[in-house]
Amino acid sequence: MAWRAASPRLRAHLLLSRHRRRGIASCIDPSAGLTEEQKEFQKVALDFATKEMAPHMAEWDEKEIFPVETMRKAAQLGFGGIYVRPDVGGSGLSRLDTSVIFEALSTGCTSTTAYMSIHNMCAWMIDSFGNEEQRHKFCPSLCSMEKFASYCLTEPGSGSDAASLLTSAKRKGDTYILNGSKAFISGGGDTDVYVVMCRTGGPGPKGISCMVLEKGTPGLSFGKKEKKVGWNSQPTRAVIFEDCVVPVENRLGAEGQGFNIAMKGLNGGRINIASCSLGAAHASVLLAQEHLTVRKQFGEPLANNQYLQFRLAEMATRLVAARLMVRNAARALQEGREDAAVLCSMAKLFATDECFAICNQALQMHGGYGYLKDYAVQQFVRDIRVHQILEGTNEVMRMIVARNLLQV
Ligand SMILES: Cc1cc2nc3c(=O)[nH]c(=O)nc-3n(C[C@H](O)[C@H](O)[C@H](O)COP(=O)(O)OP(=O)(O)OC[C@H]3O[C@@H](n4cnc5c(N)ncnc54)[C@H](O)[C@@H]3O)c2cc1C
Repeated sequence: MAWRAASPRLRAHLLLSRHRRRGIASCIDPSAGLTEEQKEFQKVALDFATKEMAPHMAEWDEKEIFPVETMRKAAQLGFGGIYVRPDVGGSGLSRLDTSVIFEALSTGCTSTTAYMSIHNMCAWMIDSFGNEEQRHKFCPSLCSMEKFASYCLTEPGSGSDAASLLTSAKRKGDTYILNGSKAFISGGGDTDVYVVMCRTGGPGPKGISCMVLEKGTPGLSFGKKEKKVGWNSQPTRAVIFEDCVVPVENRLGAEGQGFNIAMKGLNGGRINIASCSLGAAHASVLLAQEHLTVRKQFGEPLANNQYLQFRLAEMATRLVAARLMVRNAARALQEGREDAAVLCSMAKLFATDECFAICNQALQMHGGYGYLKDYAVQQFVRDIRVHQILEGTNEVMRMIVARNLLQV
């Protein structure tokens, strides 16, 4: 019982290890329904989360450390290019496999895993839409995480209405000259490869192209590091282009295809970010379960209180429902089904909203302790709040679902 005397932070880490050893309640077991192979790499990811991430997540948050070496270790396990093809260093796994891995990693540090999910999305975009030269040039060092990537769509004046972006790319001989800026770029300034959506044609989505820029390109610079509520283990900065010269050979796909590439990337990105929410919610349910058992009020453990029992049961039910939605969307995307994009939006909307509510309820169950930074639950709440905002806000997810329903 030495672990009960440990600091709350260390306890959170030890708790995850203990649940790993003893097994968790069958009703919320994330390995339920998986193949033996999926259970194997889920175990690898959970081990990594427990040993390499969970002990450091508070420090990474507090000191705003981007844990480059830890991510490179994760890449050695194949987590740098999970759904990238193997001939360029990827693991060649399915979208469902990817979701299982991100959910597991996120129990150890949601913010770091969420950045890794964006990096994986960028690597997949280059693998899927790049020509052979581009795939072989960029993907191997991204899959090994020797280099890190950022996805650059949002601008100061275009967020939800992403197709109105203004960053311009004017053709000049064998180059494009980029001018404009991107806002809120995850990894911005610390990463090496920038997948940038910019305007090569007229207004609207059809005028947008996608370019890959490398750090060090003349005319490429970065804004100040943003101060954030959560996601503190990864930097967020503006990315600025001032007469930035990009060779034509760095364009992914044809001119005008960029918006389509960006949205295709986001279908998977939405499942990935929802999976990160699942991991945070799963860890928070375990923390709440433990706290209710240990904490005594009115002469008995909180766990004896039927109101709190029912709330915990609701949290577990919502977690399992969210996981089913995410895995269903991942399968649809893997199969290339026509309904995949809308199912990804539904899953992102449902899972990120439900998981935030679960983490917040877990914090409530901790009472005043939940509000202290010594207790891990508050970090899960802070880290997943932004999942309702980015990769398309949850209002934009509702728009996508409604358009599909009403065919408008
Ligand atoms: C920490 C962080 C990291 C990020 N990382 C990246 C990144 O790596 N790359 C990247 O490209 N972007 C990134 N983003 C940007 C993110 O995708 C945008 O913030 C998001 O798309 C919303 O855009 P906005 O902030 O401009 O909000 P706005 O579009 O101004 O929206 C404001 C509010 O109005 C709502 N709204 C807007 N239009 C409608 C409508 N028609 N109907 C109903 N409601 C509406 C929105 O849902 C939102 O609630 C990041 C953001 C954050 C906070």
